[in-house]
Amino acid sequence: MRLESFVRGSWTAPGQELAEVRSAVTSDVVAQVVSGGLDMGEVLAYARQVGGPNLRRLTFHQRAELLKRLAIYLTERKEQLYKISYQTGTTRSDNFIDVDGGIGTLFVYASKGRRELPNSTFLLDGSVEPLSKAGSFVGQHVLTSLNGVAVHINAYNFPCWGMLEKLAPALLAGVPVVTKPATITSYVAHALVRMIAESGILPEGALQCVIGSTGDLFDHLTCQDVVSFTGSADTAQKLQRHPVIAREAVRFIAERDSLNAAILAPDAGPGTPEFDLFVKEVAKEMTVKAGQKCTAIRRAIAPNAHVPAVIDALRERLSKVQIGNPELENVRMGPVVGLGQRRDVLAQVEKLRAEADIVVGDLENFNVEGADRERGAFMPPLVLHCPDPIRATNVHRVEAFGPVCTVMGYDGLDEAVTLANRGDGSLVASLYTYDPGAAADLVFGVGAFHGRLVLIDRDCAKEQTGHGSPMPHMVHGGPGRAGGGEELGGMRGVHHYMQRTALQGSPGMLSKVTQSWIKGAPAIEKDRHPFRYHFEDLEIGQTFVSKLRTITLEDIEHFAEFTGDTFYAHMSEEATKDHPFFPGRVAHGYLLLSFAAGLFVDPDPGPVLANYGLDSLRFIKPVQPGEAIKVRLTAKAKSPRNEQYGEVRWDVEITTDKDETVANYELLTMNAVRP
Ligand code: NAP
Repeated sequence: MRLESFVRGSWTAPGQELAEVRSAVTSDVVAQVVSGGLDMGEVLAYARQVGGPNLRRLTFHQRAELLKRLAIYLTERKEQLYKISYQTGTTRSDNFIDVDGGIGTLFVYASKGRRELPNSTFLLDGSVEPLSKAGSFVGQHVLTSLNGVAVHINAYNFPCWGMLEKLAPALLAGVPVVTKPATITSYVAHALVRMIAESGILPEGALQCVIGSTGDLFDHLTCQDVVSFTGSADTAQKLQRHPVIAREAVRFIAERDSLNAAILAPDAGPGTPEFDLFVKEVAKEMTVKAGQKCTAIRRAIAPNAHVPAVIDALRERLSKVQIGNPELENVRMGPVVGLGQRRDVLAQVEKLRAEADIVVGDLENFNVEGADRERGAFMPPLVLHCPDPIRATNVHRVEAFGPVCTVMGYDGLDEAVTLANRGDGSLVASLYTYDPGAAADLVFGVGAFHGRLVLIDRDCAKEQTGHGSPMPHMVHGGPGRAGGGEELGGMRGVHHYMQRTALQGSPGMLSKVTQSWIKGAPAIEKDRHPFRYHFEDLEIGQTFVSKLRTITLEDIEHFAEFTGDTFYAHMSEEATKDHPFFPGRVAHGYLLLSFAAGLFVDPDPGPVLANYGLDSLRFIKPVQPGEAIKVRLTAKAKSPRNEQYGEVRWDVEITTDKDETVANYELLTMNAVRP
């Protein structure tokens, strides 16, 4: 199979440089990669001129809908990807992580995009900042889509997940993608891009794929582009030093390798559920994807007293792992990705052996089922033990990117923290303890050196998602050696592809520009109550001011008896004497809210279909019997939902007859669109 790049809407391989890609299982040639010959300036220009405008024309909800359709389309075809992936050495459950994990990320972003983003093309960031005494000058941050290209360079170990987890937030942000898979597994990524292209779901120009070398692509980058790189620290540094990255201040997100730790706390000795969970997780992280995971556990840190038991338990567990042809059902671990990778892992193991001994696994003597041990890149899981980890250096620095882990002992939690942090910045650490005090010491001891911490104990054992699984909702990335980047993390990942701009101006002008009413903007009062307007006819800023209602002691007592809320502040003058907030008996906050609804509601059937909640409620001034309140209701923002209705956010302010603010909040209603 000769792999072509997908650029400017078609498949092409104009280059002359040919590289062969071999199966991890048999070493047979499975694909030919042609590099070079692509005009990278034109590839980027096509993304900027065609893909970008096509995406930015859509709202966040429309882009989320594309992601969902794509996820459904790929789910129906995932078996094809599984089949191709076996040649990379991965078992069915490895493929589940790569393929289903990638598709799952699309689903999560589709759903979060619909729920957490407005149905518009820009985002408000934070709240309005008052910048003047009289209120005629305010500030509001906004995020708008970058006008450039997301250049995604991926590592070989997750050809599907790696591509899709980067694709989802970029497309949701409205930025077209040029993806560059690692050559050795590019035939899987190629098949995935083919599927996406054939689906016709993404708008033209939204996705291009460069197979082989990126040529002079970096020379054409601008300040509107983002490079998101995943791979080794060496390549990251090389790319990050490219002069254009510095000159144009191109955003560069790096996800590099790291020496992740699993830490067994002193309370979690043999016989506890946490000890078993620790052993299970370490063994799993060594064997899933044959240990070729950036998040895999490279250092298993345990109290000195428990180290022999840990090694015995790992030996026992790993002895049951069948190595072999990953297509076979009983095989738990396939080969690493190729003979070159195996050479590389073994060379790194030699460096570790300067400070640690192999205590589990025999390189000469291991059984391989259903495949030729010599032709495939097979190796056994190797556990090393480092007797003096405080003085050692390699065990904290050398990444053997395969089924390799070093066990090291500690004396006291401070030493455990020191050891974990010797990784100089990691993607993840997992902590195994049922002692909240030890958990807190570890979390705050290692937190600054880690992008993610997983606290695994008996209570979450069944449902915990694992040390090595980045979740789309949570940040993936880590400081220092891990690259200093952040991906995923829900909407945080989307923001990487957007520019934050501070807007400053009058409330009226900013309300119009952002389509979000700001206090101080001119009120729009019309003949009819705002509840009489269909979704599309309601104007942002449309306001209704109610008449006054006096609160009586009878009202308060009736409400107290009716609801059962007889809190002393509403019932007893005596009990509120010298109270720091209440001058005497006061009305219930919920009574005020209920009266407010009674004051602003326009009761007849009409376009307002339902009230579906309140946000940001604050009670500011207590109201005593005899005082009068009124309500101002202002249409603050609108977000279309579907063809039948949309969401309206109302700013509500309850004031006294002297215009003192009693409470404010945002009310959400669903309003019908015009029939
Ligand atoms: P790699 O050799 O650094 O390659 C990563 C990517 O960079 C590949 O697509 C590679 O393409 C490309 N590349 C290499 N030189 C380049 C250049 N001069 N210009 C443009 N692109 C270039 O890493 P790998 O061997 O694929 O992956 C294994 C490493 O990745 C491990 O160290 C692992 O820890 C790390 N990793 C990190 C994460 C994370 O999220 N933090 C995830 C997975 C893996 P070619 O294949 O064509 O050379």
